Amino acid sequence: ISSKLPDTTPSIFSVMSRMANEYNAINLSQGFPNFETDKKLKKLVTKAMKKGYNQYPPSHGVQELREEIAKKIADLYDKEYDPETEITLTAGATQALYCAITAFIHPGDEVIVLKPAYDSYEPTIQINGGKPVLIQLKGENYKVDWNEVKEAITPRTKMIIINTPHNPTGTVLLEEDMKKLEEMLEGTDIILLSDEVYEHLIFDGIDHQSASKLPGLAERAIVCASFGKTFHNTGWKTGYCVAPEYLMKEIWKIHEVTVFSVNHPMQKAYSEYIKTPEHYLELSSFYQKKRDLFLNLIEQSRFKFSPSLGTYFQLLNYSDITQENDVTFAERLVKEHGLASIPVSVFNIDQKDHKQLRFCFAKTDETLEQAAEILCKL
Ligand code: PMP
Ligand code: GLN
Repeated sequence: ISSKLPDTTPSIFSVMSRMANEYNAINLSQGFPNFETDKKLKKLVTKAMKKGYNQYPPSHGVQELREEIAKKIADLYDKEYDPETEITLTAGATQALYCAITAFIHPGDEVIVLKPAYDSYEPTIQINGGKPVLIQLKGENYKVDWNEVKEAITPRTKMIIINTPHNPTGTVLLEEDMKKLEEMLEGTDIILLSDEVYEHLIFDGIDHQSASKLPGLAERAIVCASFGKTFHNTGWKTGYCVAPEYLMKEIWKIHEVTVFSVNHPMQKAYSEYIKTPEHYLELSSFYQKKRDLFLNLIEQSRFKFSPSLGTYFQLLNYSDITQENDVTFAERLVKEHGLASIPVSVFNIDQKDHKQLRFCFAKTDETLEQAAEILCKL
């Protein structure tokens, strides 16, 4: 056979979670909580099932949920989206990203991707014959060099993908970054794909800078979000994207032939649950406490770190412990010490010597304590 993705290997998330199970290790690798989603939300799903919401919902999502999403975005980011034409529920943010890229990328089109990057972007670009143009985030704090991004723009540049708060580094884009981007894109036809799945996990009083906040970005932006991250149920695989109608019309064509529509009872439940803003507004302080607990517990260890500013991931630098590469060290950590993490080089291109592993702190305090105990002994 002629593979469409000859260089793509099984996702590191599957690999590490499988290894964690095999070695009965504490799993801080793949990003998901090891505590339960809210009982109230589960009851709402059961209620929706009992009421008979068990057949196909409308293709672009349950109307009440689209309306609630529109309200939330208007409240938080001061931008109005039309729930009829500009909001679509998807099978997790992953499918929103897939639809957004597939709808617009033709063979030969260039897409600017900031590295390290979430692992679904590049294969999706390549499936469509596009060319990922990779730009490295800079330094230990993984900042964007906007001049380098500007220089990478060519007449073939169709799209730029950003991700804030950023997986795997925990860095965030600030208002000044978004303004620079807005200025750079002015007068171009470049589409902005903004992956904001961690919009409600941002720490130390920093405000999330959604692409929908700035008019010059919103007019060209597809913003992707994930209920799985926000409501502790990654396995329900429900997310959404918002975009101006001229873009959404094209996204629908891909959405209809990839899933047509996504789970009905969950959408009904989210429509109710999301009406209480505390359910997402309290998430940042909830996760900041977990980050702080984890970092306090490993303060005496030999790992070096800058606290994550968003997401539920923390990078730890192990260069004082070993000079092994991160894949070898991550494997040894699972096999010999019973702790799974993600080697960051898998998302990286030229920073393979940045001896860093990613740890997910969306875990019970008890799990974080057990993990920290292992890390402190290294
Ligand atoms: N983008 C980023 C940056 C992510 O970390 C994830 C989840 N790991 C996704 C997209 C996909 O989200 P979902 O689980 O809703 O498909
Ligand atoms: N987003 C999650 C992570 O970064 C995992 C998603 C997946 O398993 N594909 O760990």
